[in-house]
Amino acid sequence: MPETNTVIPLHQDTRETTLDSADTQINSFDPDFDEPRRFKVYTARQLDKIEPLKRLDDETRFAMDVVANVLPFRVNEYVINELINWDNVPNDPIYQLTFPQRGMLAPEHFDKVAEAMRGGDKAEIKTAIADVRDALNPHPAGQMEHNMPEVDGEKIDGVQHKYNETVLFFPSQGQVCHSYCTFCFRWAQFIGDNDLKIATKEAGQLKKYIQAHPEISDVLITGGDPLVMKTKNLRAHIEPLLELEQIRTIRIGSKALTFWPQRVVSDADAKDLLDLFEEVIASGKHLALMAHYNHWQELETDIAREAVKRVRATGAVIRAQGPLLAHINDNADDWARLWQTQVELGIIPYYMFVERDTGARHYFEVPLAKAWEIYRDAMKQVSGIARTARGPSMSSHPGKVEIQGVTEIQGEKVFALRFIQGRNHDWVQRPFFAKYNEEATWLNHLEPAFGEDKFFFEDELAEMEAE
Ligand code: SF4
Repeated sequence: MPETNTVIPLHQDTRETTLDSADTQINSFDPDFDEPRRFKVYTARQLDKIEPLKRLDDETRFAMDVVANVLPFRVNEYVINELINWDNVPNDPIYQLTFPQRGMLAPEHFDKVAEAMRGGDKAEIKTAIADVRDALNPHPAGQMEHNMPEVDGEKIDGVQHKYNETVLFFPSQGQVCHSYCTFCFRWAQFIGDNDLKIATKEAGQLKKYIQAHPEISDVLITGGDPLVMKTKNLRAHIEPLLELEQIRTIRIGSKALTFWPQRVVSDADAKDLLDLFEEVIASGKHLALMAHYNHWQELETDIAREAVKRVRATGAVIRAQGPLLAHINDNADDWARLWQTQVELGIIPYYMFVERDTGARHYFEVPLAKAWEIYRDAMKQVSGIARTARGPSMSSHPGKVEIQGVTEIQGEKVFALRFIQGRNHDWVQRPFFAKYNEEATWLNHLEPAFGEDKFFFEDELAEMEAE
């Protein structure tokens, strides 16, 4: 039977796609930007259809299959054909960013799932996968227990309010991405487990919640990737916000400029999307596209640059952020080149994050001490105008904590830290110190410096938790 070459329009796709595609024909880049490009995506079920993977040996491909059964996998043709340099596989950063690798699971987890898959018993495979997923801290930083707000005494799905002035909104149609990142800290949303999803269909509830909280000035629409939505759906979420005087900034968290720049260039409703951006600006609000970039290679294609140009032409500001990751970008030269390229394109470098304590973190994590060295060495290579990125920063349970440096105070080697954001607003910008620890990769590995028995925020945090 001939293979069906199904192209699923992205906006009809779901995270549990049953796409039965397809051939991987190599599309060379079309210099005519406005020519619509089809969106073709591969999931774990189509690994064997991805042509360039055929050059890998059987063991590597089986390992990929095992990992793709546990962690979400989804990659589109643009990424496969235009962002990955297959001559540099397995070291290519975009390959590491999108394709599952054996080391992404701990050996005992890998063996457990591999053994079940070799046995072929469906129930056993399912149990093994579920056990391993459970062990991977699917909701880091207490996001399910501590950040879900309430309206009229009822918890609202799909909204998180952790920091005073900003609410996060997870529209239900935006809980998928054009491709998935292998390190994603929101991976749990993509595995089809209803208990783990934090998405809402109710924009109305969000508005009601904001009106009850005059301290909120910013809404971050996030996912997944809200730009997978059709413009008309995104518009339905954004327009009510434009009516609220208290909202000064609308942020959209997205990796579309990397994974599918066609979204703002040649998709059928690309122009509508840019019009919507212009309307937000015309309403007097600030529109920030919080663009997720991991490597300068993502900005090397003509269409990626064209997408940046078109978004900027609307008046929206693009701020770039992404984590520091072993196997992808754990060296200063790559960060310096990324920031420099961003500045040249008019993007503002905003954050270097520390890889979060979830999913495949052991594969990607970089010790805090090394992270700070990389950050500092990268900063030294760029001019002041590119030194706008904060970092390395941990989005931890008490707040967003930046490593400001390593120093010695009265003979004790310490990390100097500060809160960029805190669960208590009063913690913001407070410096504090932790004993230097070369191995530490997260805040909970650190101990207070100078013989203190706890950090200044711990008692208050415990009280908040008790509440
Ligand atoms: S684009 Fe963001 S939400 Fe989507 S997979 Fe990557 S890190 Fe996760």
